[in-house]
Formats: sequence, structure tokens, C-alpha cells
Amino acid sequence: MSRELSGLRMVRGVLFDMDGVIYVGTQPLPGVQAALDYLTTTGRTFLFVTNNASKTSEQFVERLAEMDIHVRPEQVLGSAEATAAWLAGQVTHQNWPRGPVIVMGQDGLKVALRKHGFELTTDPHQARYAVAGINFQLTYEELANVTLAIRGGAKFIGTNSDATYPSERGHLPGAGSILALLTTASGQSPLVIGKPNRGMYEQAIARLNLTVGQTLMVGDRYDTDISGAIGLGLWTAGVLTGISSRADFEQASPPPDVIAENLIDLVDRLRWADQQ
Ligand SMILES: [Mg+2]
Repeated sequence: MSRELSGLRMVRGVLFDMDGVIYVGTQPLPGVQAALDYLTTTGRTFLFVTNNASKTSEQFVERLAEMDIHVRPEQVLGSAEATAAWLAGQVTHQNWPRGPVIVMGQDGLKVALRKHGFELTTDPHQARYAVAGINFQLTYEELANVTLAIRGGAKFIGTNSDATYPSERGHLPGAGSILALLTTASGQSPLVIGKPNRGMYEQAIARLNLTVGQTLMVGDRYDTDISGAIGLGLWTAGVLTGISSRADFEQASPPPDVIAENLIDLVDRLRWADQQ
């Protein structure tokens, strides 16, 4: 039996990257709703997983609905929610103190941290944690306060390390660029949750209540979506609707278990595997 066939037959849940898999810009990609419907009718679950930390799950759901893709807030995991859930898990299971958090970020991150029971502070001397991600309105004062917090001993955590943020204007500074500034200023490196780091996948798999061997990660970028998932032992599928080309996936070591043109092609392969 081929690795593709044996993998697809094991899959009980699917993690979908969003940009380049579900949509590009404001345009939905072909076959999304049909793919979700097929997973649901075959008793499988799914979760949208994105490094974007600027939005709450509810804001992602609204954006998807505008593209006629209909999901519930708990079916979207952004790196803001993943980071807050991960930190809450450290408090519960590793006895980390539930101290105040100073945030470099936007609503998505602040709402998620509050929802998980964290008090936010802007005082660098109060902060036990400094959590940083994308912030389109950042000021020097905020950079200064977060730097002082880290230098004063606050644990430095990053939502994701994407260097750039794709926009209609081109590639703008992303969360990774902000983390780089804070790293230089504080002399400390962050612990980062987003893909390709394990924190994001662990939160996603826990939310679906599955094991790594039952879960398929679908992504358009080998160096984030796929390499991180392979590192944890998930099944992987690369799609050609975003960043990586067929040659990128084929020449990667190791390559993804499945290479599909798009989600229509991926579901055709899954349906075929189910019929074997
Ligand atoms: Mg992507």
C-alpha cells in the first residue's frame, strides 16, 4: 500500500492552513465547502489553523462568511488563540504563575489572553509575561515598555515568526520582524507558538481530540505548514494554490505524503482512498 493511501485512510481530522489553501486575498479557492462537507459526511473533523494573530476567531468566521465559507468560531485556530491557550496550559499543568501579561499586539491577542484568564498590564514592572505578535498600530512607547518588561524578567513569548505579512502593497513587516526588534533590544529570544513550532499543532490536535497519526495537515508552504507537521509526525498534504510549487514539494526532504493541485484534487484522493 502506498504511503499516500495508508495515510489518507488513517485520517480522522484535517488541519487546513488558510491563506493559499482556503483563500487568496479576498478570493475563496475552489472546492473549499465541498471538502468540508465531505469530511463531515465521512465522520471526520477539521480545523482552520493560521499564524495570523491579528483577529479573534469570531472575526475570522465573519471574513470567511463573506467568501461564502461557513464555519463556527471553534473551527478556527489563529496563533493568538493558540498562544493564549498554550500559556494557560503552562499555568495549569506546569505551575507557571498566573501573572499579568504585557502585550505587543492587537485585539485578537488581547481578547484571547483575557478569555483564558490573564490580566493585561501596560506596566513593564508588573508583567510576568511579554506576549508579542503583529501590531499594525505599534508605537515606540509600546516597544519600549515590552523591551523593559523582558529585560526585567518577563517571559518572552511570540505568536509566530513570519518575517513578512502579505498585502496588496507587497510584503510588509510581519510578527517575526517585530520579534526580531524586541530580541535585539532585550537580548532575549522568544518562545514562539505558531507554525512551524510544535505549540500550534499540539493545540490544534488537542482541540480535535485526535492523535498525530489520525491528523492530516494541509498547507501551501513547505517551510512552515508541512515541515512543522512532519516534525511532529502528522500526515501532510501540500497544495499548489499558494506559495510552494510542485517542484518545491517534490524536492523537499522529506516531501509531504500527498501533493494535490487544490482541495478538489485532495478530496478526490481521499474519496478514492476511502473506497479501497
Ligand atoms: Mg498559507
